[in-house]
Amino acid sequence: SVTQEVSLKSKLKEVFGFSQFRGTQEAIINNIIQGNNTFVIMPTGAGKSLCYQLPALVLDGTAIVISPLIALMKNQVDQLNAFGVNAQFLNSTLSKAEMNKVKKETISGYVKLLYVAPESLTKEETLDFLQKAKISFVAIDEAHCISEWGHDFRPEYRKIRGIIDTIGNLPIIALTATATPKVQLDIQKNLQMDDASVFKSSFNRTNLYYEVRPKHNTKKQLIQYVKKHKGKSGIVYCLSRKKVEEIAELLRVNDVKALPYHAGLDASVRMANQDAFLNEDADVIVATIAFGMGIDKPDVRFVVHYDTPKSIEGYYQETGRGGRDGLEGNCLMFYSYDDILKLEKFNKDKPVTERDNSKLLLQEMAAYADSAVCRRKQLLHYFGEIYEKDCQFCDNCLHPKERFEAQDEVLLA
Ligand code: ADP
Ligand code: MG
Repeated sequence: SVTQEVSLKSKLKEVFGFSQFRGTQEAIINNIIQGNNTFVIMPTGAGKSLCYQLPALVLDGTAIVISPLIALMKNQVDQLNAFGVNAQFLNSTLSKAEMNKVKKETISGYVKLLYVAPESLTKEETLDFLQKAKISFVAIDEAHCISEWGHDFRPEYRKIRGIIDTIGNLPIIALTATATPKVQLDIQKNLQMDDASVFKSSFNRTNLYYEVRPKHNTKKQLIQYVKKHKGKSGIVYCLSRKKVEEIAELLRVNDVKALPYHAGLDASVRMANQDAFLNEDADVIVATIAFGMGIDKPDVRFVVHYDTPKSIEGYYQETGRGGRDGLEGNCLMFYSYDDILKLEKFNKDKPVTERDNSKLLLQEMAAYADSAVCRRKQLLHYFGEIYEKDCQFCDNCLHPKERFEAQDEVLLA
């Protein structure tokens, strides 16, 4: 209704400080408010969080948000608290007493959004508690974690549907930035959401510039590149922890405020480094792919893949962390076939089907890197979208000649 439209918009302004909905946000929000199952497929940075955060504020009771990473939960809860929203989380970082406090406040109806780790959700005591609370709906963020075909499979995610059923008949909103049709189907099937309204938006990120360079004098190239973006926020992805440490050090000795981030670091160090990046005490975070899922730093100006990534999907997710504010975002990937071979070797110990799948993903990556076709056209094609024209905003469109020269150089080296 018109009144509802007005009140949603005023809530958007009042709580989040935004004057307009983006894309299909408003339709999605209305759909979930009406109690319908909702499936949202939108690229990273499109503004998916708001699609469950706003309805949670409008509806009675507490919305459950299932989210795969503790860092991600903390990031969102901190942000919501800063907006004056009562959001809390339930995960393994809380003490027994803190956990009880959260539960008590939820049952009393004070908590509008409760973020829960899938591991916590499956616990008997969590279930008992959720059955006592008044739940408005369940949001499943990063829903691609359900699919073994996705790049970030979490077995616990496959139990979510069964758990929701024991809590009650609740509307579900599932959200993902991963658009491969296969993963989509898998999500919908596993969540038994055949009836869901599907909101799928284009994956084109018009403000991101895509570039691939051969791995040749890579350190020197990286330093030059980072210096060109001096003082700006950037992420440099590496494949191993060792490499992360090495490159962070390399940047530091070159006067770049860089910090490492990988799963081998102490949780407290990891958190501190992430915070330093978010607060701009550090300009560059050098990280394994453990960093960044759901991290909301709107002004990341460059994303470098120092090593060739394992899949186009992962690569696209990671580059998607650049330019979330809609302004400039530069995506540079270094490519070598040696990297592909190295990654193939890592697959050796995997079960056969998984190995074949990983190999296919790697071959697609290699083909993308080698291709002279418009990058955007290739990427969008990968996600089942047709992009007719060349984008004129990638290396292949703007510098076709230089690229070939650079490749020749590598062949001769
Ligand atoms: P996603 O989960 O889709 O990757 P987020 O929910 O993290 O994206 O949102 C990305 C950025 O867009 C955030 O900084 C968020 O505050 C901003 N944003 C979301 N909706 C709007 C809006 N309607 N107007 C302006 N900014 C928005
Ligand atoms: Mg998100």
